[in-house]
Amino acid sequence: MTTPTMAEFLNANTGLFDDLPINLPSLMEGETLYSWCARYHRLSGNAMTGHSYAQLFGTHRPSLKHDFPKNLSELCKRTRSCLGTPEALALERTLLGYYAPFISSPRYQRALEALCDLRMTEPKHLLGLMASRVGASHPLKACPKCIQHDLDELGFSRWLMEHQWPSVWICRRHDTPLRHLVGHSQPRQLRDWTLPEDHSSGEWEHLPRLRAASIEKLARIASISASIAQISVAFDDERLRIAYRQAAQDRGWAAFDGSLRTLVMMRHLTAGYRELATIPAFNFLADADQNDAGVIGLLTRRFPGLHHPVKHAVLIAFLFDSVEHFIDTYRTAAQEKISNGADTVVGNCREALRRLVEFEKWSVSRAAKATGIPLCQACRWLESIGVPYNHRPRMLSDQTKEQLRSMLIAGDDYGQIAERTGLKKSLIRAFAASNKALRDVWRVRRFECLRDRHRAHALELFNTMRGVSITALKSVRGNGLMWLERHDRAWLTKTIPTL
Ligand SMILES: [Zn+2]
Repeated sequence: MTTPTMAEFLNANTGLFDDLPINLPSLMEGETLYSWCARYHRLSGNAMTGHSYAQLFGTHRPSLKHDFPKNLSELCKRTRSCLGTPEALALERTLLGYYAPFISSPRYQRALEALCDLRMTEPKHLLGLMASRVGASHPLKACPKCIQHDLDELGFSRWLMEHQWPSVWICRRHDTPLRHLVGHSQPRQLRDWTLPEDHSSGEWEHLPRLRAASIEKLARIASISASIAQISVAFDDERLRIAYRQAAQDRGWAAFDGSLRTLVMMRHLTAGYRELATIPAFNFLADADQNDAGVIGLLTRRFPGLHHPVKHAVLIAFLFDSVEHFIDTYRTAAQEKISNGADTVVGNCREALRRLVEFEKWSVSRAAKATGIPLCQACRWLESIGVPYNHRPRMLSDQTKEQLRSMLIAGDDYGQIAERTGLKKSLIRAFAASNKALRDVWRVRRFECLRDRHRAHALELFNTMRGVSITALKSVRGNGLMWLERHDRAWLTKTIPTL
C-alpha cells in the first residue's frame, strides 16, 4: 500500500471532525498548543506530521511554529472550539500571552489576527522581535525533573508554556535550571512534532555554570514573569517609566534635580546581573555603553517603541523588592507626574530642607545631606527665602575657620583656598555663605583683585602696542578691555581720553 499524497489525504479527510472528534487529547495544564499538537499527532497514528497538520489546520502547509502557530481560527473550527476560542488559545497556549502586557492594544489586535489567519504577517515582525537585542528565536526549553514527573504520572511529557517564555530559565516548581534544544535539534519548521522525551541528552544544551546569586536572580525573574502573566495587565509605557524612576529615586539613585544617577545604577546592575549576560536572552546586559545607560536608559527615558518583556523583567527584579511592590508603584504612578516629575522632586526636597532647618533646628549640612541637596545650593536657597541656618560647627576647627576668614578677606578665589587648605570648594563656599558680612567683604575684595589685574594688563597692552586701535586691542586674547568697559569705565576713560 502506498502512502496517499497530501491532496488525496485532504480529499479523503474533509469530514474527519463531522462527528464527535475521537482522538483529540485534552489540553494539559500549562501546556503549549505546539505540545498538544505533538500529542495529537502521536495519537492520530498518522505517518507524517503533514497529515496531522492537514487534519487540524486544513492545509498541507507543513510548518507548525512552536512559538507562534498560525491559522488558529481554522483549528478552532475543525476542533469545534473544544480547545477554547482562538484568542484564548493565542493568549494562554502561545507566546503571544507573554508579549501582550507590553504591547499597545492595536498592535495586540494585529498580532492576534496574525495568529488566527494563515495569510497574515509573521507575528514576530509585528512584535518587533526581529530588531530586538533579545532576539526572535525561542529555543524549546524544558526542566528535566518536570519531564520525569510527567512521564511517571502521565505517561508522556509536555512542553510547558511558562518554560518557553524568554525570561524564564529556572523551573519554579523544582528550582532547576532549564535546558534548551540546540540549533540542529530546534524544529524551527517543525516538520517533526516532538515532545521533550523524544530528544536524547546530546540534543540538549545546559545553562553555563552560574553562581548561586545568579541562579537566585533567574528564579526572581521567572517569578516576576509568572506574576505579570497572572495579573494580565496591559501596561502603559509612560506609567511604567514613571514607576521605574520612582523606584530608582526610592533607592537613592536620583539627583537633586530629579535626574537619575544612571552611572551608579549601571554599576549596581552590572555587579548583580553581569553573569546572566552569558545566557542568550540576557545578552543585552553586556551592552555597557555608559552614554545610553543600557536597559536602564532605555526604560526610564522616553524611548518610544517596543521594549522586550525580558528587559522589563530584569529591571523590575533590579529595582523592586517584590512584584507587589512593583505593581503598587505602577498603580500609584499618577499621570500628573508625567509632565512635572522633576519639579515635584525638587519642590519636595526643598520643603523638607526648610522644615528640617527652620523647625527641627538641624544644621544646614545635615539637612542638605538628608535631602540630597548640595550644600551650597541649600545655603543659597535658604538665604533666598530668608531662613536663618547654622553649619555644623565641629566640621571646621577654630584655626581652620580663622585661616579661611583671612583668605576670604584677602579675596582669594575658592579654588586657590581649596588647594591651600585641602578643603572642598563646596565647603568653603558654604562657609562664606554662612557669614554675610564676610562674604560681602570677599566679594568687594574679589572685585578689586580682578579690576587691578585687568587694569595692569590693559596698561601693559597700551605700552607694548602703541598706536594700535582699541578695536584691534580687543581682539588680543585675554585683553580684559570689555570687562573694564563694563565695570571700570571711569578709569578706562581717564587712562585713554580718546576712548
Ligand atoms: Zn521542573
